[in-house]
Amino acid sequence: MQMPVNQQIRQVPGLYRKRVGDIVITAVNDGIVPLPPEVMVGMAPDGVRKTLTGRFRPAEPHVTVGAYLVEHGERRILIDTGSGSLMGPTLGKVMQNLAALGVSPDQIDSVALTHMHADHAGGMLDGSGAAIFPKADVFLAVEEDRHWYGGEPPTDAVGVSEQVNSYSGKLRAAYAGRWHLIAEEEILPGLRRMALPGHTPGHSGYMVSSGDDQLLIWGDITHVPVVQIAHPEVGMVFDVDVEQARATRKRILDMAATDGLAIGGMHLEFPGFGHVIRNGANYEYVPDLWLPEM
Ligand SMILES: [Zn+2]
Repeated sequence: MQMPVNQQIRQVPGLYRKRVGDIVITAVNDGIVPLPPEVMVGMAPDGVRKTLTGRFRPAEPHVTVGAYLVEHGERRILIDTGSGSLMGPTLGKVMQNLAALGVSPDQIDSVALTHMHADHAGGMLDGSGAAIFPKADVFLAVEEDRHWYGGEPPTDAVGVSEQVNSYSGKLRAAYAGRWHLIAEEEILPGLRRMALPGHTPGHSGYMVSSGDDQLLIWGDITHVPVVQIAHPEVGMVFDVDVEQARATRKRILDMAATDGLAIGGMHLEFPGFGHVIRNGANYEYVPDLWLPEM
């Protein structure tokens, strides 16, 4: 059927695959959410709007959300799970995109979390509080577990912690016996956790390695990369420790640019693979070329 050109169109499923040695990594889109410029810390709202429109983006920050499927031999590992039903109708698309890829929840062996926020762990529970991934082992940084479960539930000015507190108990119960606390270590062959503290105390990246190939999935090093890669000093109101997040962001941008490291990130603009290069005293993001086969 011919579609009239003036009719609203939807994108095809949000999936993009990349090879790292013997490992295949698929960026799985969860959606995109507009936020007010006031969510950015260290740049005035007018500056945020100007930076965004100067790069042909909408004036309100639009935060892309995603997860990554790591396929290694027979093993399928999901790094983060998107938002599930927790963050409104423009997000929560990870499961439908995985289905479009032909992957069902019971085929996921492991879920490695970057941190506990709802746009990362929200896809782990269904509406009744049951585990979406019936067979998956869950990996979470020991510092992240301590932050959310170690004492009084954390609070913050913008309500993000309260949201996590509303499901954290259910989450750990649903995955009881499969909940693994990790240090900076290789959690599975070819998958090493890297501590990237600041956004949350146990915020993690995952280094994917196979042969001479490497890719760092850096979690929430940036939320609005068009702003924060050019201006790494700019943080987010959701950062538990803005100063520490800023120092970690600068350290990782420097490392990525120095080493020419391939990167992925949950809030990189889809499809979420690229490199960082230096641009004067700051940095620039160079997205991957879309390749039909690898
Ligand atoms: Zn996030």
